[in-house]
Amino acid sequence: MVKAANLRGTTPGTPPSTSILVVGGGYVGMYTALRLQRKLKQELDSGRVEIVVITPDPYMTYQPFLPEAAAGNISPRHVVVPLRRVLKRCKILLGEATAIDHAKRTATVATLATAEEGTGPVEITYDELVIAPGSVSRTLPVPGLAEHGIGFKTVEEAIGLRNHVIEQMDIASSTRDPAIRDAALTFVFVGGGYAGVEALAELEDMARYTARYYHNIKPDDLKWILVEASNRILPEVGEEMGKYAIRELRARNIDVRLETRLDSCEDRVALLSDGSRFPTRTVVWTAGVKPAPLLAATDLPLNERGRLKCTAQLTVAGVDHAWAAGDAAAVPDVTSDEPGKETAPNAQHAVRQTKVLAENIVASLRGEPLKEYAHKYVGSVASLGLHKGVAHVYGRKLKGYPAWLMHRVYHLSRVPTFNRKARVLAEWTLSGLFKREIVSLGSLEHPRAEFELAAGGRRPGHGPDTPKGGSHDDSGGT
Ligand SMILES: Cc1cc2nc3c(=O)[nH]c(=O)nc-3n(C[C@H](O)[C@H](O)[C@H](O)COP(=O)(O)OP(=O)(O)OC[C@H]3O[C@@H](n4cnc5c(N)ncnc54)[C@H](O)[C@@H]3O)c2cc1C
Repeated sequence: MVKAANLRGTTPGTPPSTSILVVGGGYVGMYTALRLQRKLKQELDSGRVEIVVITPDPYMTYQPFLPEAAAGNISPRHVVVPLRRVLKRCKILLGEATAIDHAKRTATVATLATAEEGTGPVEITYDELVIAPGSVSRTLPVPGLAEHGIGFKTVEEAIGLRNHVIEQMDIASSTRDPAIRDAALTFVFVGGGYAGVEALAELEDMARYTARYYHNIKPDDLKWILVEASNRILPEVGEEMGKYAIRELRARNIDVRLETRLDSCEDRVALLSDGSRFPTRTVVWTAGVKPAPLLAATDLPLNERGRLKCTAQLTVAGVDHAWAAGDAAAVPDVTSDEPGKETAPNAQHAVRQTKVLAENIVASLRGEPLKEYAHKYVGSVASLGLHKGVAHVYGRKLKGYPAWLMHRVYHLSRVPTFNRKARVLAEWTLSGLFKREIVSLGSLEHPRAEFELAAGGRRPGHGPDTPKGGSHDDSGGT
């Protein structure tokens, strides 16, 4: 068993130390730890407090930039923030919490080395728990989805999808079979929230541009379909701006289907509830999120949708020394007149909640009263591709270029660290001066393929005639 509080009582006579365990290194995890390390600087330096962050990745992902990363406007490294550099006073443990027994104040963690050690997962003890594992894609039992669907929540998925789209164009350009060409050039996105709409709009824009460099593909040969179960898209920007976004997408020949569901995507054919049928090698699933599976492996109270029951002070309801915020937490929205309303799972709330969360943890350690989290949603901005966007913020509605500019200015101001802001700005400036990148680097995912071939082997999943980097498997990944 590893004790997180291994600095406890380092100097005889000093008060007992407090160990704060932060589970998750996303918006909530990173910002909470960052604020705590500022507010508890002296305690951390003297060893009276320690902060341990458990995170599967050594970086925080700025998810609103994923569509731009997929379009190639921002390189993947600049969409993520290195936790070790930002959280200098915290201990970063790379791994995944698999269970939490809060009654015993222990977390079970599978680290990167766990499997190699063969000694089982690590047990970590703590005094205060910040639980922030966020959410995962909310999938439905649609036949074929688990095998062929592509998610859009991580930087790996965003870059994988970019490579995949360009690779489909390469396949379409070189095949002699019209059916393969048609399926390769058909892209189905399910879910009309900001993740799905921005991803589709940015990729369509990128692919439309890329098509100029193909001798036998015209932009209108590509078929883009957005499938949305409700009667609107982008609810975050309001009804009027949502309707504008539909008009803008349809004007680009994107087939927006409202009140429609994906019924099946088996055998590389997307079947929709309106009876239409699209042979395709690309089904991107962005139809909402559900709380991270870890929550079900804790003794903490959950609501009917699996989110942690929380108070407006961001404590876990009815439990001492446990705190939560972000996508995993059901926080009462005290600004709403609607009884039982919770704050929505988005970055706007997640970031603001961390301020109150960190202040409340410090207040509780010092025996001071706790504050309530109160923030009224101010609206949202969404990019619909280069120089195109839609926004509804603080009651102001913008569309087209001004909305796109606002989207960029807003997110540049929000992306963490000056370093990342400078790099993203430099990339945007350079991409304004030079032409867009149009290659697929899918072969990066098989770095040993060349050597294996040289050594007489065959690339996994590739036939002898398959060109370099050409993944013709069913996974849709490249
Ligand atoms: C493509 C996309 C675009 C978006 N755009 C916007 C936008 O424009 N505006 C907006 O307001 N919101 C946006 N969002 C939503 C926003 O990113 C989320 O609401 C926000 O990230 C929630 O923060 P969080 O800390 O709760 O979760 P996350 O930021 O997802 O962090 C959770 C972290 O916990 C880690 N974790 C999970 N399980 C475990 C475990 N068992 N042990 C340890 N760690 C674990 C995860 O790896 C992750 O690092 C977007 C989301 C996506 C996917």
